[in-house]
Amino acid sequence: MQYLTILGSTGSIGLSTLDVVERNPDRFAVVALTARSRIDVLFGQCCKFRPRYAVVIEATDAEQLQQRLRVSGSETLVLCGAAALETVASLAEVSTVMAAIVGIAGLRATLAAARAGKRILLANKESLVTAGGLFMAAVNSSGSALLPIDSEHNAVFQALPSNRRGTLADSGVRRILLTASGGPFRTMSLDQMALVTPDQAVAHPNWSMGRKISVDSATMMNKGLEVIEAHWLFAADPSLIEVVIHPQSVIHSMVEYCDGSVLAQLGNPDMRTPIAHALGHPSRIPSGADYLDLASIGTLQFERPDVARFPCLRLAYDALKTGPAAVIALNAANEVAVSEFLANRIGFLDIPRLIETTVENTPEQDIVTIEDVEAVDLSARALTLSDCARQLKSRAGGVRA
Ligand code: NAD
Ligand code: MG
Repeated sequence: MQYLTILGSTGSIGLSTLDVVERNPDRFAVVALTARSRIDVLFGQCCKFRPRYAVVIEATDAEQLQQRLRVSGSETLVLCGAAALETVASLAEVSTVMAAIVGIAGLRATLAAARAGKRILLANKESLVTAGGLFMAAVNSSGSALLPIDSEHNAVFQALPSNRRGTLADSGVRRILLTASGGPFRTMSLDQMALVTPDQAVAHPNWSMGRKISVDSATMMNKGLEVIEAHWLFAADPSLIEVVIHPQSVIHSMVEYCDGSVLAQLGNPDMRTPIAHALGHPSRIPSGADYLDLASIGTLQFERPDVARFPCLRLAYDALKTGPAAVIALNAANEVAVSEFLANRIGFLDIPRLIETTVENTPEQDIVTIEDVEAVDLSARALTLSDCARQLKSRAGGVRA
């Protein structure tokens, strides 16, 4: 039996995780669920899965949720605040933590799980992107098992030898090939992209996901973040990580070996497959995903990525080359720019522009502690926001900077 904390249980990954848990009731018990929003959904999850703890961020949400749970006869105890996320990620009675909060907001709790030696199912790529060195050191020293949920990294994990020791080259690996759907704007010109709306950007052709990662897929920053994620997860030099566009999202990624063999993992684009793989590992358990019917798909296509139309991919490779502060700034600027875009305050093509400027204006420095990560993150956010404000002012015909 695995005892679970699900960080971000009301999001897209959180819901899919609980769906897999429900299909395998003899294998999993839920100890803690957490959410910042959709408290009604959290209430329903508490009634169904009877966790010992539920965590929310706002005090008023905590009071209301606790009251509703009490009235319904539930014994779930509601905790409140970001520090409580770390508490439930490191409880002694918890064996496994699904890290499915979006953004750097998930970093402290995911790191707490790593330090406590939990089995970590990692969806929250931003924690590995921003604090990869710290995070992997914590995983290695505590003996945590780290299982990737991101479909590409889960595919690579499955295609690598299970008894892997040493470097990728020691296992005969020549390249990691991350597949990318290309997102909803794959065939658009830059002129067309200048006019796209948030609703168009979140309408991913193959995957149903949260709003932030959907915009990241549209800009291809998602693939950039995934290159950085693969670098840390598999100790892979960036030169060994290649991106190939594959619009059908059936091959979730590949590993090429020195003898010319390429191993791929295929499946329908349904996150319940990598979630079930990681939850069950090393066993296989049912996920609820439809089985693949290759004949009805017919054709699988591949293209090279176009970094002129999707500069975010290039920005991510460049930041990885520059150093840890550049990567933290890249992530912070992206989080701010995506939320400004979703709020209709900036255009789609402003996203890479803002990120590039923020990264350029962030001095490189050593990153040793989580406080170092958060300091760079905060100052990069401030830079991006003030750049946004300047742009808005100049567009409104106000004072130019
Ligand atoms: P989502 O927006 O649907 O859900 C995010 C969850 O985190 C929600 O439960 C929300 O309440 C919680 N949350 C948000 N901000 C918070 C904060 N400040 N403090 C505490 N909790 C907070 O996101 P998602 O699509 O499920 O993605 C989650 C993570 O998984 C992201 O890092 C994403 O990149 C990664 N991921 C998602 C998918 C996917 O298919 N959705 C695929 C691969 C990787
Ligand atoms: Mg992915």
